[in-house]
This record gives sequence, structure tokens and C-alpha cells, in this order.
Amino acid sequence: MTNLPIDPATRAVLDGGFPLLIGGQFVSGSAGQSATSFDPATGEKLADFDLGDASDIDAAVAAAKSAFGGPWRKLQLNERARLLRALARGIEANAQLLAELEVLDNGMPLMLAQMIVGNCAQLFDYYAGWAERIEGTTTEPPPHVQEQGEALTYTLKEPVGVVGLIVPWNVPLSMACLKLAPSLAAGCTVVLKPAEETPLSAVVLGRLIGEAGFPDGVVNIVNGRGEEAGTALVAHPDVAKISFTGSTAVGKSIARECAGSMKKVSLELGGKSPVVVFPDADLSKAVPGVAMATFFLQGQNCMAGTRIFAHRDIYEPLLEGMAAFAENMKLGHGLDPETMQGPLISKRQQERVMGFIADGKNSDARLVTGGTEWDGKGNFVSPTIFADVDPSMRIVREEIFGPVMAVQPFETDDLDEIAALANDSPYGLSGSVWTRDLSIAHRTVSRIRSGHVSVNCHGAVAANIPFGGYRESGWGREFGREGMELYLETKAVTLAL
Ligand code: NAD
Repeated sequence: MTNLPIDPATRAVLDGGFPLLIGGQFVSGSAGQSATSFDPATGEKLADFDLGDASDIDAAVAAAKSAFGGPWRKLQLNERARLLRALARGIEANAQLLAELEVLDNGMPLMLAQMIVGNCAQLFDYYAGWAERIEGTTTEPPPHVQEQGEALTYTLKEPVGVVGLIVPWNVPLSMACLKLAPSLAAGCTVVLKPAEETPLSAVVLGRLIGEAGFPDGVVNIVNGRGEEAGTALVAHPDVAKISFTGSTAVGKSIARECAGSMKKVSLELGGKSPVVVFPDADLSKAVPGVAMATFFLQGQNCMAGTRIFAHRDIYEPLLEGMAAFAENMKLGHGLDPETMQGPLISKRQQERVMGFIADGKNSDARLVTGGTEWDGKGNFVSPTIFADVDPSMRIVREEIFGPVMAVQPFETDDLDEIAALANDSPYGLSGSVWTRDLSIAHRTVSRIRSGHVSVNCHGAVAANIPFGGYRESGWGREFGREGMELYLETKAVTLAL
């Protein structure tokens, strides 16, 4: 464990065990299995945590099913909202503990973790508001019913039922909350399966859910392996919907499995987002903005802008500025207040990213900066910029999920040609456009085939802004009103009066 100072509450939680939460009880996995979570900055052991398997998923789904038919179903909407707000307050009251756990488990810098924990509380407040506004509509009854006399048609919004929430390791608490807040607001009950690399904060969240007063079984949390607990959750006949965030490969396999039972499914998957920098861009903003589009969260960020298209007129100054920015980024433990970039999640991820870097070095691309890993402990990779790339290169085509940027120049003014470069990817999650010209900004945005595009900033996500992908980046939109709709069914009712 790091020698950097940790809150005594965090130390106590690390020593206290990380069980499963099933039916309101903290329990060990039925097979007695456990695994260990390691600090990615030091490689040292953090804590053991219990691992659930298919039989634990069975028990968790049964608890969620029973809670769905129980008092939870009868709770008035303002009561449901009150619980969500109580959870938000619980998160705020435990903000330092949750932030430190995220840093230790995931590696992200503490300042970022603190911001993320604040956003998690905000998600529950935001969806508490939507819980109070669940409403249907009235519309005209069909003519053949009206011909027989007076009639009425209206719609009801109903929760889909028991939902399986499967999340990745890159922003563990945030991913859990962005699925829990709308699904609970909608009235669903859930089984959450965190990623095996980052199991810790979800267990503390489970405790806060109980303290907020949610009935037993409404939220069940089963840490476990994807191929075991994850597949069992996806295949379970009593689960009405799967909400998944993770890799495109696993997302596709979940979609195939859900097609068999016609289970509802929403998917937030990978990305390789374009960043287009026009010659009139304000470089004092574009240099740090574009650099952080790639390097934010060590590049382990689905919306990372990693394919940079820069106009020839500002190509070299942009590269020079971003190289200086990258070289000034202090790598280190997330608990060190000076740290700007933490480690990658695992040795395996570090090796994977270094494999892409080796590929880039062996290509005709120009290595502008970075390209190295740290000797010794911790899974660090320096912020890396390749210039003069071409669209056929692996570092341009594939999602690296690490701090690796690929930059190429363009000379044309034709926005269709520029958009064709930006859209030359199987993904379509995010993107940004950098210019002072409003007309160019709007016309470029309308040509980019992505679910989320920013101008003169990147990755502008918030509770109220829908987020999700085109093409292989997924199905559905999380956040905002659309995020709530993912967990609601519409029932149309006609009464011949
Ligand atoms: P992953 O797909 O390997 O794992 C994600 C989760 O799925 C984990 O909880 C894992 O245990 C579980 N899982 C693995 N195999 C499973 C299976 N067969 N059935 C059911 N569950 C299974 O992804 P990862 O490596 O943890 O995360 C990195 C990926 O996530 C990247 O590709 C990234 O782009 C993507 N991601 C996307 C978003 C988004 O919002 N679009 C956000 C974060 C991460």
C-alpha cells in the first residue's frame, strides 16, 4: 500500500472486507471464492473481495424479483425521489472515502475522483426530479372503438422489471451511478455487477443505499468475473433488461445472447473519437483541450478524442504545444496532489498499450513525444503523440484505451471531405470541433456521425446531457431524459366506456 496519507475511514473500509450485497444482507460468495484488488500505481495488494458466481446471481435476481413485487412497487413517486436524494446526501457525506477508494482501485488522480463523486451525487438528485415527473399521455381512441360509443385512450409508464447492470473499470463509481440512478428512478430493481478490476467503491455504495432507506433487495451488488457472474446475469430468465458498458466485443456477445430471449438491452461501447482543429482555432485553448481529449483518465476513456485532424496551417504549432503539455504532465500516484496522470488499470493493459505504441513506432508515423513505460512498480505509460499518421494504421483504427494520440494534417476547406476523414471509423461515440467560426462549427457538427459532439471543448458530459453511440459504439442513450426511458415500458390503454 502507498505511504501517501489516507483518510482513517478509507483504511478502516479496506480492512473491513468487501462482501456481496444480496437481499439487503452482506454475504460471502456461495462458493467461498474471493479475489484480490491491487493498487495499479504500486502493484501492492489493497484488499480481498468476495466473488459471486451463477448461484449468487440467481439469489440476487430472486431478491430483486421479490423486491420488485413488494413495497418498492407501491412506493409513491415522491417517496422514491426522497430515497434517491437521501442517497445523494450519503454519497456527499462519504465523498472523501469514495474518492480515495476510486484512486486506490482505479489509479485516477484524486482531484478527478473528487469531481466524479460529486457528479455521482448529482446524478441521484437529477433522477429524483425525473422520478417525480413520470407521466403518460392521453390520445384519441381508435375509430372502431369510438363507433361503439364513448372511449378513452391513455398511456402508462411502467418500470421494465429486474435489470442487470454491468459496468467496466475505467470510472467504476460513476458507471454504477449512471445506471443505478435512472433505473431506480424508473422503479426497477437491480443487480449490479462491477468490473473485477475495480470492485471496491460499489460495496461502499451498497452500504449507503441501505442507509438511505431503500427496501432490501431493490439493489443487489455481486462482484464477480465477467465470464461467470456476467454471463449468468445476461442469461437469467427473470432479468428483463441488461444495461452494459464495456468493450464492443463483449457488447456484441451480450446483444446476441439477449436476442435469444428478446431481453431489452442498452449498450455503451468503445470509441475512437475524432477531433477536428480548423486553422482559425484559438490555440491557447485547443492545445490543452485537445491534449486532454486524449490524455484524460490516462486515455482509458470511451469518449477519448484520439484521432486528431489538424489543418496544415496550425499543424506544427498544435503538435509543438501538445508535446510540451504532455511532457509537463506529472505521472504518479493518484493520491499525490501533483499527479496529473495516474497508472493504467493493469499490467495487461500496460502491455496492450505498449503493443500499440510499438506498432506506431514501426510504422511511418512520427513519434513526437512519449512512447515509454516506467521501469519498476506501477502500470505507467507516458502521454504519447504520433504525428503524420494515415487512416490505415492500427493506432488510428483501433481503440487503444491508453494515453496515445494519432495526429494527421488536412489541407482542404471542403467540410464533406473533412467529415469523411472524421467518420472513417466503425465507432461513433464522441468528437469535437475547434474553430472560432460558428458556421464552420455547426456545419461540421452536423456532418460528424457521433452521439456526442462538442465545440471548443471535448467530452462535455453531465447528468442532463444524453450520451451514447452511433454504429459500433452502442445502442441507446444514457443521462438525461433518454437515460430514464431506457428503464421504462410504455403501456397504451383503451377503455370503451
Ligand atoms: P469488458 O467488456 O471486458 O468488461 C466490462 C464489464 O463486462 C466487466 O464488468 C466485465 O466483468 C463484464 N463482462 C466481461 N465479459 C462478459 C460477458 N461475456 N458477459 C457479461 N459480462 C461480461 O470491458 P473493459 O475492458 O472492462 O472496459 C473497457 C471498454 O469499455 C473499452 O472498450 C471502453 O471503450 C468501454 N467503455 C465504454 C464506455 C461508454 O460509455 N461507451 C464507458 C467506459 C468504457
